[in-house]
Amino acid sequence: MFKKGSKLYSIFTGACPKCHKESMYTDTNPYHVSQLFSMHERCSHCNTKYKIEPSFFYGSMYVSYGVGIAFAVAAFVISYFFLGSTPNVAFIAIVCTLIIFYPIIVRLSRNIWINIFMSYDKKLALKKKLESK
Ligand SMILES: [Zn+2]
Repeated sequence: MFKKGSKLYSIFTGACPKCHKESMYTDTNPYHVSQLFSMHERCSHCNTKYKIEPSFFYGSMYVSYGVGIAFAVAAFVISYFFLGSTPNVAFIAIVCTLIIFYPIIVRLSRNIWINIFMSYDKKLALKKKLESK
């Protein structure tokens, strides 16, 4: 869907923000909730340390606020305008959406957060490729 090398690729797949070679997460399925926050410490391809500083990912909570709003607005628009629900039902739809998509919101927020600080490095991605041959 998104090409490797773009920030969107890393954001939507949870791939290492520097080399895009592997997932940052020990379990790529966010709905295995017990593994939701479990991440590798370093990328096995480019050795990037994901947690730049202690409690680095607390900052992703600011992002998750924005991402949550986006999901809430989408839920409202779909239920209120497209399905013609009452405001009360639309409100329930928003709450349900936020609960159901919570794991995705958490992962997206972390991915966006780390991609604010790190960018794709073509050299790192290529370098490791050569070494592994
Ligand atoms: Zn990497």
